[in-house]
Amino acid sequence: MFPIDKFINRPTPFYYYDLALLRRTLDVIKETAAVNSAFSVHYAVKANANPLVLDQICRAGLGIDAVSGGEIERAIECGFAPDTIVFAGVGKNDNEINMALNAGIACFNVESLPELEVISDLAVKAGKVARIALRVNPNIDAHTHHYITTGLSENKFGISRELLMPVVRRAIELPGVEFMGLHFHIGSQLTDMEPYRMLCDTINQMQDEFEKEGIAIKSINVGGGLGIDYDNPDKNPISDFKGYFDTFNNGLKLREGQSVHFELGRSVVGQCGSLITRVLYVKKGLAKQFAIVDAGFTELIRPALYQAHHEIENISAAPGSPMETYDVVGPICESSDTFDKDVELPVTHRGDLLALRSAGAYGEIMASGYNCRRLPQSYAD
Ligand SMILES: *Cc1c(COP(=O)(O)O)cnc(C)c1O
Repeated sequence: MFPIDKFINRPTPFYYYDLALLRRTLDVIKETAAVNSAFSVHYAVKANANPLVLDQICRAGLGIDAVSGGEIERAIECGFAPDTIVFAGVGKNDNEINMALNAGIACFNVESLPELEVISDLAVKAGKVARIALRVNPNIDAHTHHYITTGLSENKFGISRELLMPVVRRAIELPGVEFMGLHFHIGSQLTDMEPYRMLCDTINQMQDEFEKEGIAIKSINVGGGLGIDYDNPDKNPISDFKGYFDTFNNGLKLREGQSVHFELGRSVVGQCGSLITRVLYVKKGLAKQFAIVDAGFTELIRPALYQAHHEIENISAAPGSPMETYDVVGPICESSDTFDKDVELPVTHRGDLLALRSAGAYGEIMASGYNCRRLPQSYAD
């Protein structure tokens, strides 16, 4: 399944993207999101901004969810129309806001009252009106890792439900903004639909409250967070998009003319990417042996940062080789630079290529230059 002959002479480590799998994933997203003509899908570009990946996503007709000015610029460079871009983030600076206003993006997802006031001021100065949605903290516990849970009321994202209405009123009266609706994002790597059903119930309740107040909601952005199967990338290469979109189609009580926006990152690109690394040394210790590879947390930080699991395969081992157990570790001078412990691999030698699977999301984009290392190259096929 990997084009190994094309890997042999490439300098390692590098990211490999299986564009055929990415295209199949995008086809499934388009088919299953079509269950409701009000649905539109934005790709959360923070998961992976590689131009070859963005090109496929742009061709598939998805919009963009950006969380920085740099992401907006990258998306526009890669062909996305500004009016398909939404801009989220708790700390948008003035330059970023002005750039997004000038580009004419679809919507700002606003996370606090002071941000709302600043966007209105800057828009008035630029002679524009910014479309905005308010990010609501729906207080749903999505049971993900505590570093990546975002929907609980005590965190830096969004506005608590209890504090929302005065901010909505302010948005309606401010001259530089047009209130479009509400934005939510409850967490990441969710593989169970229950938190999404709870989100639909919350949105339905809030819609009733808004209706009583006589405030119209034109658009609802339900965020992203659909997970991927890190343990079985070959068995489940494409997430349950049908279950996901059906959950919202069945759960949301939409009003006439409302649009629903989705912001999927990981589930779009996660399974199409692998980090390919070469074994430098096999070191035998007292009770363990270590496969020391030429990639480290500088190339893929998820295991060190969130104890994330990536399947590891020796893709150059001879078929039928006996299996042995290895700790797979990188060259960085930190003991957290371990990809996984006690991994069963075919007998592994210096020069073998290993693939760290399911690394298409939050992999290459989070690479760093720590230890003065070069940023990883990529290869797409
Ligand atoms: C990160 C993020 C997403 C995408 O999350 P995934 O888990 O990759 O789908 C969507 N919306 C917002 C606001 C985000 O911050």
